[in-house]
Amino acid sequence: MIRENKIIKINNNSIMFKFWKYFSGFAAAILIALWLLQIVFLNNFYESMKIREVTKIGNYLRTEYNSSDFEYQILNYSQKKGMNIEVIDEDGHLIYPFNWVEALFKPKVMDEQTFNEFFSSIVSGKEKYRVFTVKFPNLENPTLVYAGFLGTTDDVKHYITIKTSLDPVDSTIDILKKMLIIVSILAMALSLILSYFMSKRLSKPLVDMSRTAKKLGKGNYDVSFKKGDYSEVDDLADTLNYATNELTKTIEMRKDLIANVSHDLKTPLTVIKSYGEMIRDISGSDEKKRNEHIATIINEADHLTELVNDLLDLSKMESNLESVNFLPVDLEKTVTNVSNRFNVLKEKNDFIFEFKTIGDCTILGDEKKLEQVIYNLINNAINYSKEEKYLKIILEEKDGKVRFDCIDHGLGIEEDDIDEIWERFYRVRDNHTRPSVGTGLGLYIVKNILELHNFQYGVNSELGKGSDFYFIAKKY
Ligand code: ADP
Repeated sequence: MIRENKIIKINNNSIMFKFWKYFSGFAAAILIALWLLQIVFLNNFYESMKIREVTKIGNYLRTEYNSSDFEYQILNYSQKKGMNIEVIDEDGHLIYPFNWVEALFKPKVMDEQTFNEFFSSIVSGKEKYRVFTVKFPNLENPTLVYAGFLGTTDDVKHYITIKTSLDPVDSTIDILKKMLIIVSILAMALSLILSYFMSKRLSKPLVDMSRTAKKLGKGNYDVSFKKGDYSEVDDLADTLNYATNELTKTIEMRKDLIANVSHDLKTPLTVIKSYGEMIRDISGSDEKKRNEHIATIINEADHLTELVNDLLDLSKMESNLESVNFLPVDLEKTVTNVSNRFNVLKEKNDFIFEFKTIGDCTILGDEKKLEQVIYNLINNAINYSKEEKYLKIILEEKDGKVRFDCIDHGLGIEEDDIDEIWERFYRVRDNHTRPSVGTGLGLYIVKNILELHNFQYGVNSELGKGSDFYFIAKKY
């Protein structure tokens, strides 16, 4: 006994591995995007936001320089935004914020070198303000500075500086980084595990299907493809189940065919052989009997020919060698020709043929093939009639169409069988009338020819009462 290997092998090409790979890749991409936004760009984003804010406040205060609540505005912004806002004169003395003690001494808050560094381009008139970062030696973090010209009061030029520290962002980034590392590890682990189970679940129906298909391939036709959780898999399962069904049917039918064909071949051969022996041993000198026996032999040989012809037609049709030669066909003439082939039978079996034509029944089609259709339908009507040996053929032209009806008063067909009789090798099972005739191919050939012609066709039948096989063609 072969034991199944339980070790799970990861196949790089399997749908499950691919799903897993893509899901994990997706999670990783989201994490990378998060990192970029939070860590790399946050700094730039924060800095440019601060620059914009400082510039806005600086420019606003410069326009308010001459207003009466200028000093109040400076205090307000200093407190609200946590910024250091100072107004100084051209020598670096503090003007605002106003403080009585400092007002007396007017302390110098900026030495000349720093003043030049901050304001040289402003003093020279090149620009009205500038924003830049400075690293003060006594401070740990860089400072964002707005330096601008305010105006002149009492012949003294006043300048404004706004300083704000850039440090909060770094500490925030540090916290974020730590958090993100934990979040990333957790998210990645979680997404690897979750995506493993998700991909397993998603690919399961397909894996099951492939397993079932393998079983089918090994000849186990008793399988059913299971449906999955999503509609594409359901569709696939439906299609595969349908295909399996058809395959099973074909295989059954092939089996039937072999049984039928061997039976159909054997019966006439047995009859031919025994009648041949009978002629040799008994009726050789009795002319009447001998002729009867020879007629039987010829009859059986005809059956054999019919069977072989059907098989040949079938194989031609199945290999798509047939094409339709569309020419005008006078169906009345065709039906007459075909029905004449049954003359012997009409006389011998007292079969009554009634043939009625209404209008001009010329159509476009392939005469040889249509002959075969009509022949097969009449042949069936005869084969499946019992005591009521009465057959009616009607050809009728109406509304630009020609309808052919072959009506018998024989066995009829059960409703369950009506769709199946057109299948190849199908024969109604409990049909014991002349079992040696027919191969189950006649109607399949009829169906194929009529479909090649694009003609509408069908059968109306009632069990025990008879059948009406018809086809409808466009009038020529
Ligand atoms: P077969 O060679 O057995 O006649 P067909 O394909 O011509 O094969 O017909 C398939 C089956 O349909 C027949 O076995 C028969 O049971 C049924 N059938 C066909 N024609 C008739 C009919 N006119 N009346 C009753 N049953 C019919």
